[in-house]
Amino acid sequence: MTEHTKTDGLPGMDMPAAPPGEGHAFGKAPLRNERMAVAKVECNACPVLCQISDGRTGACDRYANRDGVLVRVDPVVLLRRTLAGDAPALVPFDRPAADPAAEGTTPEWNGDLLHADEVFVTGVGSSTTYPDYKPAPFIVGSKAQGVDMVTVVTEGIFSYCSFKVKIDTDRFLGSEQANVRYRGEVVGHVTTAEYGSQMLSLGGVHHLTGGSKKEGRMTVELMQKLGNKQAVECTIDGGASLVIQAGKAPIVNGVEEQRMRVGCGSAAVGIFARQFAGVADEVVVVDDHITGVLTEHQAGRCLDMPASGIEMRGRKSTPGRYFQVANPGNGWGGTDIDDPLSIIEGWEAGVAKPGLRLLMTSTTGEHAQWYVLDDALRPVEQDMPAAVRDIVARIGENCEPSLCTVLFLGGAGGSLRAGVTENPVLLTRAIKRALVNVTCGGAPAYVWPGGGITVMADVLRMPDNSFGTVPTPAIVAPIEFSMRRDDYAALGGHMGHVFPLEQALARGAWQDDGAPLARQWQAIDVGNAWPLGQPPMLG
Ligand code: SF4
Repeated sequence: MTEHTKTDGLPGMDMPAAPPGEGHAFGKAPLRNERMAVAKVECNACPVLCQISDGRTGACDRYANRDGVLVRVDPVVLLRRTLAGDAPALVPFDRPAADPAAEGTTPEWNGDLLHADEVFVTGVGSSTTYPDYKPAPFIVGSKAQGVDMVTVVTEGIFSYCSFKVKIDTDRFLGSEQANVRYRGEVVGHVTTAEYGSQMLSLGGVHHLTGGSKKEGRMTVELMQKLGNKQAVECTIDGGASLVIQAGKAPIVNGVEEQRMRVGCGSAAVGIFARQFAGVADEVVVVDDHITGVLTEHQAGRCLDMPASGIEMRGRKSTPGRYFQVANPGNGWGGTDIDDPLSIIEGWEAGVAKPGLRLLMTSTTGEHAQWYVLDDALRPVEQDMPAAVRDIVARIGENCEPSLCTVLFLGGAGGSLRAGVTENPVLLTRAIKRALVNVTCGGAPAYVWPGGGITVMADVLRMPDNSFGTVPTPAIVAPIEFSMRRDDYAALGGHMGHVFPLEQALARGAWQDDGAPLARQWQAIDVGNAWPLGQPPMLG
């Protein structure tokens, strides 16, 4: 029988765990990483089962063979409330963690339990136990506000996962359901637009595994980059080319987007109606969704503005609100028009008067022109009065910066649960009862109602480089389940594998052979609540 070098290396489920405080927990356990006869080690962290030669890494670059020992290349990311004080920034995996001189940093936190509730072990770099017939790499016991807690930490392998991308722009990116391509391959689609934003769904199981090998490779590459906050360039069939990066402005057809519209045309009319009323006789706010016409609009009527006699193109929805005045595009207000007068059908004789003052503006104020009707009721462009310019500037001032928002959406309701409990449905139920706080790299995860454990997290709130890949292909992403210790016992948790925080840090997922644990300290994102001690866990 071939001896394989295993990534799990955890003691057998029937092997009693050393009680806390007795030093090296697995000192008497067999080494998890045993040398193969051919000087290769086999990694079984995913079904690819790489045979890794000495000095090389596996196909995912996450595991390496160092002198016959399988190691996780990246450090485990540990969060603290702040980094002020004694936490070093980085201890590489192949240098002794306990030797501050080697790092030239201040001494590392020594495991003092007084500080235990100030340290959170994330799944980033924690290693994987897939398929999860074995306990998660870290099952950490700690105290939060005097309450015994357990956090189960792993790098999950997600076949069912995608990114939901919100792009703050009213420019036309592509028709709903249009394919999104990355390096020529279809990796997602345009989905339902939201208020002021175009939405994309990128990645997902059908692109990862349901198409060609190249489609899967391109999909996983795009997903890893997006999750790791890098820029990706996509094209949309029949639409725009697009550069997307979490937290940055989108670049649409080579132009960096600046402003997110203040609202639809109707909303803009309502918001600024009082200011318009004193300086203009008619205002049209051009918008691909709803173009607003002030004097017809309820806002204008409430302000007793007389009808202007303007006759609009498009489909009238309700008074002063018009759909489909033009086609979608990159012109005024997300339409394809460059000349705003092209959406005016005409002027009603006997109602419209020579000298009528007309403002036409887009929903961002980036486009605006001022006209006065001549004796033949033709709008003649004139210099915009200062008072009108101020209102247009205020529209612009009320636009928020245009950004790309990238949310990771993953299904954790499968075999990953077996790393947490012997009876997986109990974890699902405990999460639904809010007994378990689910985080991704310490970032809060929204758990969708209904069946399974479908979680969603903002990648900007996760540590940098939280995402990896395996060539199955699938995405690797951190996930942590935190709960009271008694709740963990009640859901059939692997209680024999709970280690106190300081022991888990000393031991790590790999440390039963005495190799130093690679770790990286980070301050938790200022927008994130501390993952432990959130009600109702402690309630
Ligand atoms: S792809 Fe990575 S995780 Fe999978 S077996 Fe190879 S080295 Fe291990």
